[in-house]
Order: sequence, then structure tokens, then C-alpha cells
Amino acid sequence: MRLIRFGPMQNTQAFKEFISVPRKVLIIPHFKPDADALGSSLGLAGYLKKKGHSVKVITPSDYPDFLSWMPGNAEVVLFNKDKIKEFDRDIMGSDLICCIDFSSLKRINELGELVEKSPAKKLLIDHHLEPEDFADFAQWDDTAASTAELVYALIHDLKEEDYVDHNIANCLYAGLMTDTGGFRHSNTTKKVFETAAALVDHGADPAGVSKLIYDTNTLERMRLMGFVLNEKLQVIPEYRTAYIALRTEDLKKYSSQTGDTEGLVNFGLSVKGVKLAVLISERKENIKLSFRSLGDFSVNDFARKHFEGGGHKNAAGGQTTLSFDQTLKKFLDLLPLYKNDLLAE
Ligand code: 5GP
Ligand code: MN
Repeated sequence: MRLIRFGPMQNTQAFKEFISVPRKVLIIPHFKPDADALGSSLGLAGYLKKKGHSVKVITPSDYPDFLSWMPGNAEVVLFNKDKIKEFDRDIMGSDLICCIDFSSLKRINELGELVEKSPAKKLLIDHHLEPEDFADFAQWDDTAASTAELVYALIHDLKEEDYVDHNIANCLYAGLMTDTGGFRHSNTTKKVFETAAALVDHGADPAGVSKLIYDTNTLERMRLMGFVLNEKLQVIPEYRTAYIALRTEDLKKYSSQTGDTEGLVNFGLSVKGVKLAVLISERKENIKLSFRSLGDFSVNDFARKHFEGGGHKNAAGGQTTLSFDQTLKKFLDLLPLYKNDLLAE
């Protein structure tokens, strides 16, 4: 189906009818879900459960501890390759699969193939650029700051905001807050504040959510930040670029857990004059890259073209199976090709 921007989804009425009887629903956020992916999933799950559906959230991987406060977290099922047959049965036997905060089936790894072949209807709720065309119902808008905003817009369009209680509101608020970098990034629109205000009306607690997400660090994580700022942050003024490259041993030294490196890339972008920042981290299975930019430099294009990734214009991610040194070299060797774009005002 053709994807439309904002406002009601193209087929809200058909979706409304589809969920007018109890359904078996699966909700899947992207690999290594962040607060927007998990908060949107659990917020949607809370709403659909209250409507009388049977709902299960499956995550393709683990996620940071600082998200475990989210109501519904205890029932989240982590995908496990060793039990792929059981997951296949569940996915084949569901009525509706909700794909949350991603729009390329590659982003849920092995689950992507299972979802693709399932006869279930697919609902896509997402704000990433260049979505794939696999959904029966879609609430997609690349001008939305967060998927949480789109979950709220969907519930609003269905005229069912009364179902939004403080638990659902806190989950959605977390997504909205984090995907705007705490209401600081250029995606922080009037609509964002309107949605935040509506969520507060429904019981969201801004100070509480902010404390749980931003100010519940382990001491090791704080030490990792200190190490990164002191020893790893590199700036290349002639390309207005900053990079941080972390090897497995660096991460091990600070007992790094999933989520501990989240946000580090923003340190690079916060240096005066920097327009492009990257965090390269050596993971068990591959090398992960996180990109951030200011203005017109599109890290979505950059990540898509060179690092099997994508995302948004000013925030994107990617990966390589090259070695750590080769990955860093590849990144640095690309900079001269982008010099004009990086130096343009
Ligand atoms: P982060 O750098 O925080 O992991 O991701 C930044 C943005 O890019 C997020 O919106 C995230 O969903 C997206 N993103 C991260 N990694 C990938 C990837 O490998 N592929 C795609 N298409 N998007 C990604
Ligand atoms: Mn998001």
C-alpha cells in the first residue's frame, strides 16, 4: 500500500473494523529497542489489551536496563534463535503483527522472514525514511519526531484516548522525550509539545520518566563517559567531524551493558563547529555505527550508502562486518569525498 504522511492512516476505518473483534496480536519493535521502540510497543500493547485483545510483545534482542521500569516489561518475550520453531508457530498463528519504530524487515533480523511469510495482517507504525512496502495498515510519517507520537495519533484518530491511562502515557512520553533528545533536537515541533501535553493530561509524569531514563546510571557507565570524553573523543576540524571508536576491551573495562553507549555520539556533535559525529563500537557479532549530524548533511544517505544502515536525516545507524581498524579507516577515507557538504553552511 502507498504510505501517507501524518493525520489519519489511509484506512483507519478498515483498521477500526479489524480490531472490533478480539484478535491475537503480536507487537515487535526493532533490534536493540530504544525508549521509543519499546515505549511505543508497550503503550500500544496497553491500549490493545484494554480493548480485549490478546497481546504479546516480542523483542528481537535484549534492551537497556533503564527501560525495565516500563509497565508491561515483565511480559516482554525476548526472541531466541534456539526456539525459532515456537516463534514461527506464534507468528503464523497471529491475526495482527504490529511493526513498531522500523520499516525495513531487516531491522528485526531472523524475525523478518517469519513476519513476511505470516498470513497475519501487518500494521506499521514508524517515522524512519524510505519505508518498505509490506504493511496492510500504516501509520507512517517521517516528519514525526517519534513513533510514540504516531501511536498516540492513531489512538486519537480512533477516538479512543480515554483508554490512555498513566501507564500507557508514561511509555509513550518516554519515546517522545528520548527521540527528541529531551525536547532539544530539530525535530521538536509544536506537535511534539501538543502530544506531550496530552500525555501529561493522561497522567504521564515528565520528571519521573526523565529520572528513570536519564538519571539512573550505573557508576561504571559514568566512568565510561569520563573515559570517552578524556581519551576517545577525536575531532577533525578540517571536516567538521568528531568520532569516538570503542573496542571490545574498552567496553569490557567498564563492564559495559546494553544501552551504556547510547547517547555518547551526541558528545561529539556537541563540540563547537562539529557537523558530523560518529560512534563506532565493536560488538560481538559486528561493528555498530551511530551517526548524528546538524543541518542538511544527511546521515540517512551516508549510512545507507556506505554502512548497510539508515534512519533519519540527522540521526542514523549502520553496521559492518569489516574489522574494527578497517571500519575506522573506511569512515575516515570517506570524509574527503564529503568535504564540500561538510563545510557548507
Ligand atoms: P542509534 O544511532 O541511536 O542506534 O540510531 C539512530 C537512528 O537510526 C534510530 O532512529 C535508529 O532506529 C536508526 N538506526 C540505527 N541503526 C540502524 C540500522 O542499522 N539500519 C537502519 N535502517 N536504521 C538504523
Ligand atoms: Mn523512533
